[in-house]
Amino acid sequence: MTQTRRIHILNPRLANQIAAGEVVERPSSVIKELIENAIDAGSRRIEVELEAGGARLIKIRDDGSGIAEEDLPLALSRHATSKIESLEDLEGVASLGFRGEALASISSVSRLELVSNADEDPTAGWRVVAEGRDMEPRVSPAPHPRGTSVVVRDLFFNTPARRKFLRTEKTELSHAEEVFRRLALSRYDIGWTLRHNQKALHQLRPVSDAAGGERRISALLGGKFLDNALHLDIEASGLRLWGWVGLPTHSRAQADQQYFFVNGRVVRDRLVAHAIRQAYRDVLFHGRHPVFVLYLELDPAVVDVNVHPTKHEVRFRDGRLVHDFLFSSLHRALGEARPNTEAHPGE
Ligand code: ADP
Ligand code: MG
Repeated sequence: MTQTRRIHILNPRLANQIAAGEVVERPSSVIKELIENAIDAGSRRIEVELEAGGARLIKIRDDGSGIAEEDLPLALSRHATSKIESLEDLEGVASLGFRGEALASISSVSRLELVSNADEDPTAGWRVVAEGRDMEPRVSPAPHPRGTSVVVRDLFFNTPARRKFLRTEKTELSHAEEVFRRLALSRYDIGWTLRHNQKALHQLRPVSDAAGGERRISALLGGKFLDNALHLDIEASGLRLWGWVGLPTHSRAQADQQYFFVNGRVVRDRLVAHAIRQAYRDVLFHGRHPVFVLYLELDPAVVDVNVHPTKHEVRFRDGRLVHDFLFSSLHRALGEARPNTEAHPGE
């Protein structure tokens, strides 16, 4: 006979560990969440330092707003956020975060410490860690320039099942680099560095003009990308699409250079993917994949970003309109690039 068990509330660490299952898959997921927080804090510089593909150490340092001392005990708690207060806020949300779960989840499955200073005084600053089953926050003074550093050591040290799924250092690093690349492509006005095992992999200065933007793309995607891409910038019915699309002749065997951003958010969306595929349908060989870095901008109120915990998916209020706009913009751009073999002058 099975023993009857009493119902009880999960302790906070366990509840957070379960929630972590949804968003913290590997080091790169931690990096994504921490960088998004740095972006939301209005940072101008974001430095990422990793060891052992991020499994041993992830350190993200920013020069953003910092967290006020009185808010620090809440920063690592679940369902604690400074970004929304109401359902109406959620409907027009412009920040990358809003669930108030990332820091709680990550700190439940790693050794996390956060040091922050919301003051101009560089001798000010506080450190917070969440200890024990109750994840009781412990705050102590620690000087830090204005901004925040989050250090995550030994990811999954206390969740062996998850730890087993970590791959080699090289694989984890390549996931981490991909996340870095996406986020660095989402904000040209921010300066970025990525270091791994004490070695600088990327150093990207903030840029404000088109030439700087193209330099960044070349640094992140290789010089060939732009040589074989068209620039476009199209606006219609409240939608704007700009960026670069690869020429059909520059297609790839894998869909590994496809970057699509909706209001600055990295998105993998079926409707978007379908529209792009359709636009390339007649010009690409079967089984080949186009390359692109594209930015869609629209009123935040007409996109729902609260579809999935990782927020990789979005839902457009008028999906048809978005689909048709993407398709026709790309179709036209690609058509103009094609050598005009169909026209018969004089006919
Ligand atoms: P969310 O981003 O969904 O609000 P998080 O758990 O990622 O939830 O972060 C909790 C809160 O901690 C944020 O709402 C924000 O107020 C604060 N915070 C986290 N990281 C930073 C940072 N780098 N700079 C300033 N504030 C931060
Ligand atoms: Mg967050």
